[in-house]
Amino acid sequence: MEDYCRGVALEEINGLSFRRDGRIIHNPSRELGPVRDSIYPDRRRRRYSYEISFQGINTGLTIDTMSSSRGCPFNCNFCSFSRNPWGGKRNWSARSPESVVDELGQIEADIVAFTDDLFTLDMGRVERICELIKARGVRKKMLVNARAEVARRPDVLRKMEKAGFFLLMLGVESACDKTLKSMGKGFDTARLREYFKVLRKSSMFLHGYFILGNIGESAEEMLRIPGFARELGVDTIALSTLRVTPHSGLEELVANSPGYHVAANGKVYSDHCSAKQIRQLRRRMVKRFYSTGQMLRLGHKAIRNGVLRLLPRIFLRLPKIVFILASHSLKQRRKLKLGLSEQG
Ligand code: SF4
Repeated sequence: MEDYCRGVALEEINGLSFRRDGRIIHNPSRELGPVRDSIYPDRRRRRYSYEISFQGINTGLTIDTMSSSRGCPFNCNFCSFSRNPWGGKRNWSARSPESVVDELGQIEADIVAFTDDLFTLDMGRVERICELIKARGVRKKMLVNARAEVARRPDVLRKMEKAGFFLLMLGVESACDKTLKSMGKGFDTARLREYFKVLRKSSMFLHGYFILGNIGESAEEMLRIPGFARELGVDTIALSTLRVTPHSGLEELVANSPGYHVAANGKVYSDHCSAKQIRQLRRRMVKRFYSTGQMLRLGHKAIRNGVLRLLPRIFLRLPKIVFILASHSLKQRRKLKLGLSEQG
C-alpha cells in the first residue's frame, strides 16, 4: 500500500496482483520485512464505531481490533494462518511493547481483540506490554490468541489479568494423542493436562478451539472432546470442521487417506462420518459441554475477571432488547399462523 500510495508502477510492486486489459497479473512474491512500529490505523478517520450486538440488537459495548504481531513460527499441518497467499511462511515478527500500548491508548472501544495469529510467542514482550498498560493507566478488556505453553509463565499470566486481558483463545484441536501427533501440534494430551493445571487457576476465560473430522478419528473419539475440555478446565469451546485451505498441506494428506473427501466448500468428510453426522456430533457435544454447572462457572469467572462490570451498560438497554425480542417473536408467531391458515 505504501509503494502504491507513493506512485510506484504496479508491475514493480512485489506481492501485488492486479488487472490489466482484462488479464490478472501476479507480481513475484514479496519478501516480508519486520513489522514496523510506526504504521497503524488513525482511528479518528473512521466513520463508524463498532458495537457488539446480540441478534441484531446493540448491547452498547464497543469493540475494536488491533494487530501487534504477524505470522507464527509453528507448523501445525492443518493451518495456513502462518503462510502468505503464495504458501510462503510468514515468520513471526512483532511490534515493540511501546508501539503496541501507544496504539492501545488511542482506542476508544471497551474491548480490544488482538488479531495476531500468536500474541504470546514472546512472553517477555507480553510482560512489558502489561507493565506499560498499567503504568499509563490504559483501561481495556482484551482478548488474544495464545498457545497452551503460556502456562510456563504463570507470573506473566497474573500480569495479563491485572492489565485487563480477559480471554485466552487456545488451540487444543483434539482429545486424541495420535491426532495431535499427526497435526504436528507440539504437545500431547498429557502435556495439555500439565499446562491446564496452571491455566485453570487464571481468572481469564479459556476458550478452546477443537476440530471435528480429523483424519483417522472415529465418532467415538471425537465425542471425547466435551469431557476432555471439562477435565482441562476450558470455559468455552469452538468446534470447527476440518477444512482444506491452500498451502496448509492438508489436501495432500486427505488425498493419501482412503475414505476421506473434500467438499466443494473445502470441508473434509469421510465414509465413516458424513458432513451431516459431523453436524449432529457438534450439536451433541455443545449440549454435553454447556451444562448448568458450566454456565455457573462461567458466571463466577465473569465476576473474577471483571467482565461483569461491563454489564450495567447492557442492563440500561435491557428494556429495548426485551421489547425488540418480544416483537420479533410475535412477528414469527404471526407468520407461522398465516402459513398454517394458508395451508389449511
Ligand atoms: S494453529 Fe496456531 S500455532 Fe499452529 S501454525 Fe496455526 S497459528 Fe501457529
